[in-house]
Formats: sequence, C-alpha cells, structure tokens
Amino acid sequence: MTKVVYVTFFDQLTDKDIIMPFLAKTTKVIGFSSRVIIKYKYSSHKEAYVYEIKEEENLSYPYIDEIVDDFPLLEDKKEDIEKTADYYFCSVYKILERLLPFPKKEEEYRKVFYVPCSPTPLNKINKREYELLELIRREKKIPKDDFSKSATINSLLEKKYIKEIYDDEKAPSFSSFYASDNDNEKLVQEILDSEEKNILVETDNNLKEFRFAIDIAKETLKRNKSILIISPNISLANPFIEFLNMNFKDNLVILSSNKGKERIAALKRINNESNIVIYGDKYAVFAPIKDLGLILVFQEENYLYKDEKLFLNYKDIALKSNYKTVLFSKCPKLMTKAKQLKGYLKGYSFKAQNLVQYKLIQKEDDVIPVELLYRISECLKNKEQVLIFHNSRGTSPFYKCDKCSKFAICPSCGNTLTYYEDDNRLSCLSCGYHIEASEYYCSSCGGKEFSKSGIGTMGIQKYLEEKFKNAKISRLDADSYKDKDYHMDLSAFATGDNDIIVGTKELKENYLLPKVKLIIVMDIDWIFKSSSYNIEENYYEILNSLLNSARLDTSAYIITSDPTFLPLNIIAQQDYQKFYEYTLNKRRMIMAPPYYYLIALRLFARDKNFLLNVSDKVYSFFEGKFKGRKVFLIGPYNVKFFKKQRGYKSLIMIKYRKREDIEDVIKAFLNMRLPKGIGLEIDVDPEGE
Ligand SMILES: [Zn+2]
Ligand SMILES: [Zn+2]
Repeated sequence: MTKVVYVTFFDQLTDKDIIMPFLAKTTKVIGFSSRVIIKYKYSSHKEAYVYEIKEEENLSYPYIDEIVDDFPLLEDKKEDIEKTADYYFCSVYKILERLLPFPKKEEEYRKVFYVPCSPTPLNKINKREYELLELIRREKKIPKDDFSKSATINSLLEKKYIKEIYDDEKAPSFSSFYASDNDNEKLVQEILDSEEKNILVETDNNLKEFRFAIDIAKETLKRNKSILIISPNISLANPFIEFLNMNFKDNLVILSSNKGKERIAALKRINNESNIVIYGDKYAVFAPIKDLGLILVFQEENYLYKDEKLFLNYKDIALKSNYKTVLFSKCPKLMTKAKQLKGYLKGYSFKAQNLVQYKLIQKEDDVIPVELLYRISECLKNKEQVLIFHNSRGTSPFYKCDKCSKFAICPSCGNTLTYYEDDNRLSCLSCGYHIEASEYYCSSCGGKEFSKSGIGTMGIQKYLEEKFKNAKISRLDADSYKDKDYHMDLSAFATGDNDIIVGTKELKENYLLPKVKLIIVMDIDWIFKSSSYNIEENYYEILNSLLNSARLDTSAYIITSDPTFLPLNIIAQQDYQKFYEYTLNKRRMIMAPPYYYLIALRLFARDKNFLLNVSDKVYSFFEGKFKGRKVFLIGPYNVKFFKKQRGYKSLIMIKYRKREDIEDVIKAFLNMRLPKGIGLEIDVDPEGE
C-alpha cells in the first residue's frame, strides 16, 4: 500500500527545518516520529522523521529509502511536542532529533578493562602470567587498549584469573546505606490522593529523598499505574539506580541519552509495557508511557533542566503536561516557590532538621587559612573526608606581566589565559587556544617575565599535596575527567578511595558522600559582581547541594575577603526564607523573574560593526511593535567576541508579563529574513544573563 508521508528534516543549504511529502511502500506501521532515511538534493542519506500521513491523489513524490522503526515510538506525543515547539519558538524536527537520535557508530564503543577475579582460581600459571596478574592486582584495573593481543592476557582470561568489564560496571555499591522505613507512608498517600495537578515537596537530605521517591514509586505501582522519575542527567554510577534496582528489578526501565541505541531500546520497552518505573534524564519527559500516573522531578532547583542548545526547560514542560507532576526540591527556584505561594502548586514540606551553616572565614595570604589547615589535619587523623569546592581550573587562573601588570590574554578571543604548571602551558578555557608559556610575550608591552596570579583547582591540589604528604588527594574538574563519565570518579571518592577531593561544580551532583566531614568553599566574592540575574540563586543551590550530599554533622566554611558582607552572609546561612525574601526584593528592582518573564535574543556575526548595525535595526523593529504594550526592551548589549567560528555576539532582552503581548511580534520577526551572515538564537525563559 502506498501512502503520502510528510517528513521533517534539516536542510543545511537554507539552514532551516523543512517538511516535505514523500511516498512510502511498506508493511511497517508508520506515523508521527517514525525515523526514516530519504534522498534530498545534495544528500543521498538524509535522516528525517515522519510528521504526518495524508490521503492524497498526487503520487509523483519521491519514495522514502528506508523506514528505520517497526512502529513510531512517540506517536502519542505529537500534541505535546508541537505545544512545546510553539512555546519555545523552535521546530518539531529539533525536538525529535533530541528525543529519538539516530545512533552514531562511535556510540556503540564502550571501554573495556581487565580486573582480577575473586575468588582466585586454583589453575597453575607460569611466571609471565604471574607477573602480569600481580600488575593488574596492583592497578586494580587496566584498560584493554593497553595490551595488544597478548598471549599471556588470553591465557589469564581462559584460566579465569582475570575478567573483562565495561567502564560503566565499576560503580561501587551503596546498598549498605539503604534501609526501608515506613515513616513516609502518610505523606505518600496524601500526595498520591491529592487532586492537585502540580505539587512541590521540599526535602532535605539526599538519602531520605531517594527512599521517599522509592516509596512513592511502590505505591504508584500498587495503584496499577506507571511512574516516571527524572533527573537532569543520569549516570549509572548514581546510588539511586542501585536502590531502584534493589526494589524494582524487572519493572525498572532506565531511559538515558548517553547512547542512542540504548535509548531507542528503552523507548520500545516503554511502548510495550505497563505498570513500570521509568528513571530517565530530562528528555524522558516525553517518554510514551501508556499508564503514566505521576511524573516525579528530582532536584527541581537544578539549572541543567534547561537544554543548552534548544533552550527548552524540561521541568517546565512536565509542569505544563497533562500529568500529575511532583517536584522534589531542597532549595526551590525562586520562580517555583513564588508560584507555590500564589497557589499554582500545592506545597508539602519534608524537611526534618535545619542544615548546618557555612561559617565565613577571613582570607589570609596563604591559600588556605591556618584554622582550616588544622581542621583538615583533624579530619585526616579521624579518617574522615574533606571536600574543597573552587570555581577556577588549572594551576593559576591568571598569568601576570611583571613589567606592565597586564594579564595574559587569549589572542583569538580576548579572555584571560589560565596557566597549567604540569606542561608549562597557557590555555584559554573559553575557546580552546593554548600556547607553550615560554613562547608567550605580553601583548601590551612585549615583556617576557610573568608571575602566576590566583590559584586554580590544580594549584590547590599541589598545595595540599605539599602540606599533607600522606593524604590521598583527588581532583574533579573538566581537565581531570575530559570526556569520561565523571560520576565514576565521584562515586569512587564517595566510597572512600581518597581523603580529600578538590573540584569545580561537578561536585554538587545529587549524591551521597557519607564520609565527608568538612566542606571548604574557596573565595566566591566575585559572584556578587556578576551581571547574571540569578547568580546568587545558582550559588545558593551549589552550596546547598554540597551540604545535602554530606553527613548531617559536617562543618562547612567559605573563605572570603570580607566576612561581614551581607549578601554573602545570606547565602552562607542557608536559611531559605531569608534568602528568598532578599533575592525576591532584588528581582523586583531589576525587573527579573518572577516579576517579569524574559526572552533573550542573541545575534551573531563575524564583523562587529555589521553586528551592531543589524542589532540596532532589530531593536528598532521590536521597539515599534511593542509600543503601547507592557513589554520592556534592553539592549543591544553584551556585545563581545564570542567564539572563533561565530565571531561577535550581541544580546537583546525582552521583558514581559503576558505571553500574548509578545507572541505575534516574535513570530513575525522569525518570519522575516535576517541579512546573510547573521546567526540567531532565541532563548525563552533564559537561565542567567
Ligand atoms: Zn606587559
Ligand atoms: Zn580564547
């Protein structure tokens, strides 16, 4: 049977998403979201998605080359996806590309390691085999890539002295921390019985939150429904996955975006099964669950619910869906709390005790003040762990000219260069430029003598290694994990692999760090100079997450140059009510959410003057259209060099109260043709800026 199938795909030539009719001759079930391969102009293998099927007489269209799926995986989600595309001014194609990726070849690659078997078998081994076995035992595990088809390895494998494991199988066990309790039963029933569409549950400690989520899931299954639990991103190393496995086994589906193939397999299961627990990343909001009873959103406060490319906010999509949605939050976003106080969300509190406060401690000449060095040594003596949070990477974030005192600057983007002592290199952390430090000359005066200025995570690690010679110190930042799954390093630390961890914001994952007794936050005074409207909120959340991962009797410190500074004190006290009032007041003054909604329009061009010219014209266009409406325009501002490929960036911010005041104007703007060479991003409800 031949059908006329409208498919949607991305056309590189016009830089637009297109919908075009094709013909399909197939016995497979096809419908919205079916993945297909077509031929189109320049491309003989184009990935596309079915948008709709029509009854038409005209049969002169080209045929679809291949239909990938046996049945459409997200057919029932068409309406939700269209609604979302409309709200964020983005295309259905772009969303489908996120949700149903075509697997890439390299995605199937998993790193394999050799590890010793236990118990040790009794087979005889020769001297060579013995030496190799000892090496693997010492190292605990060795990547398979390190050996090229060694006969010794093969015989050790055969004799079962060693085995192969995948990288994602080494997650240490947290099962001893899990104990079921029935304290939550009343609250679980109340939440599930509630008629409210959206609910905010304020929680505190991570472990309690995990147990509570499992209790809600059990009760949902008992009521013959499925439950979807989402985190911004998930890692198989997260203890919550282990707890879910202990409780639900065959009823559990993990929906993670890490590997395209596994995601598609999980979606197939979800299409075919009922009465299940689905644990997924943020994209799982669109999972096609037939008997969905409840969406549970972990870490409501996490800014990573925002898509970094499409700018969708998946938490907000859950709230706007037709399903009952429960947000778990340890420090609600201001927007969420304001909505709850106004009655748009029903609120429950699950907080048992107040968290400890961060003590503010005066910065000294040395990297870490004497008092804290003493606390660290106490922890090490008692076999307790120390966590140090710092926001800069490398040895030193600045490299200063001795002659003219100017900082070393990236010649390609203008940002300051970070110094790395291990390979005597200067690197630009925003564009990737790097140069041997000995080859760098001051761009202002030509000077050749430089001094390190400030300290980064790598510098702190080295400093601590000198101070505490016997301590095992690890580091977690984008340099230490590169493209590996950093959750593995975090769980290795969590289960006691090292004494001290120094790291950037990756440390704040929703995690269990039961051995951490001391938290030190390095200088964060700079955040109060940032122009981003929600920087305090983000840092309040980071500090809160660190406390919630650790033990209840943890001591926590912030090093600052001014311990009396009021805004810093408010963040340090971790008193949510105080923080909420203080920040809300500031938001009112700067006309930021929740008082005004924001849309950020970002324009890009290679030439600065050209960009300024176009930005002014765009600004005037909006100014004219918004006349007489309660809409405010700011910009164009923030004009600066952005990235080598895209050149300069400018920003126009639209502030509004009612969606109908801006919708027609923005749609009209998007239908206009921008001058060639101008790139555009439209970000509805931006985070930061
Ligand atoms: Zn100089
Ligand atoms: Zn750069």
